[in-house]
Amino acid sequence: MQPSPHPPIDWQAFADEAIDLLCRFIRIDTSNPPGNERLACDFLGAILQREGIPFQLYDAGNDRVSLRAVLPGDGSKRPFMLLNHTDVVPVEREFWDEDPFAGTIRDGYIWGRGALDMKGLGIAQLLTFLTLHRLRIPLARDVIFFAQADEEAGSEYGMRYILREHPETIDAEYIINEGGGGTTELFGVERPVYSIAVAEKGPLWLRLVTEGLPGHGSIPHDDNALDRLVRALHRIQQWERPLTVSPVLEEYFRRLARAGIYRGDPTPEGLAARAAEDPRIRAMLTDTISTTTARAGIKHNVIPARAEATLDIRLLPGVDPAEFQAQLERIIDDPRVRIEPVHIRSSAASPFDTELFHCIESVIREFTEEAVVVPGMTLGFTDSAETRNRGIVSYGFSSGLTTPEVARGVHGHNERVSIEAFTLNCRMLWEVTLRMCAARPAT
Ligand SMILES: [Zn+2]
Repeated sequence: MQPSPHPPIDWQAFADEAIDLLCRFIRIDTSNPPGNERLACDFLGAILQREGIPFQLYDAGNDRVSLRAVLPGDGSKRPFMLLNHTDVVPVEREFWDEDPFAGTIRDGYIWGRGALDMKGLGIAQLLTFLTLHRLRIPLARDVIFFAQADEEAGSEYGMRYILREHPETIDAEYIINEGGGGTTELFGVERPVYSIAVAEKGPLWLRLVTEGLPGHGSIPHDDNALDRLVRALHRIQQWERPLTVSPVLEEYFRRLARAGIYRGDPTPEGLAARAAEDPRIRAMLTDTISTTTARAGIKHNVIPARAEATLDIRLLPGVDPAEFQAQLERIIDDPRVRIEPVHIRSSAASPFDTELFHCIESVIREFTEEAVVVPGMTLGFTDSAETRNRGIVSYGFSSGLTTPEVARGVHGHNERVSIEAFTLNCRMLWEVTLRMCAARPAT
């Protein structure tokens, strides 16, 4: 590990600037739909412009804009990308205690949609980027700041658009993105645990459609579309899939066991009892299927001619969606149940024995001595799926600690980040980026 060059930084001013930037960023309503990420890019662009940093905008139409800026390195190492998304999920205002788009500070927290997912990390990345520039740190590699549109709705106007139209812009050895996190408590044990996300589950969203003979409800027959659909769903519910402990999860549970947070073997047998009682653990260890919507019928006494249901399937990294769908067809065992793909994305895991993983790990330990650091798998999907598929080592690293209660604000109500956690996030990200990218220690 290279010693850090330790340029002189006024940490109080650094934190104050981070807080101010985040509050202002939250005030830009980028709820997706519709997104309006152009507004976020105007905000980020104005800051970069003031600092004299050039940037490029990528316009997918309808104000779906992404922004990319580069601090050039000497080229002795491949680029390092700070990747974030500027859109947020919509809010249900009536459930919030604060205005979700006011960027309010109260009780030591910054409140607002995006505080955790992921305007907070976006600002931490921006501040790291600005600070590298201001201190004129000589860089061994290009440092790229890339703020994407449309992540929350599947990235069609963000990452997927960029990869289609400007694939050359996504070139890096390492990417830091969302998906990781720190928690103050895990499995009932109070101890800081930082998960560096190296993998994520892949969505396989399918629609099942059945068609049959309509008719009068008073005369049942064998070709009822809804009955057919229900039979298919029933077979899917009965389908038992084995637990799989991927190398990432094996390491995850092994490290937690060493820290006394998890007791047991990191094997399917050892984890079976826990998986049975905890849906989150089960989701980490198996391909999951949630039935999420169903629709059929027009009237109480009419047999419907058509029925449909949607399945939200999440596959473990490395599971082939086509193969899984073929298995599903065998389970349903009825050629008259049509399966329509809606959204499919899969990615392999990034390795975790890398310079960046070790760097993040040591930085976390330097800031929080008693912290446990584990490689993790994100249950939801992020843009890292796309970048991992391009062979780029992509980690979810948002370093601030949250309590389980605060973590529920992600996509939920009262999203907020503690000022302490957020500013720690900023400092750790700065430290990691500096160590990974500085050309030489300053004297
Ligand atoms: Zn996000």
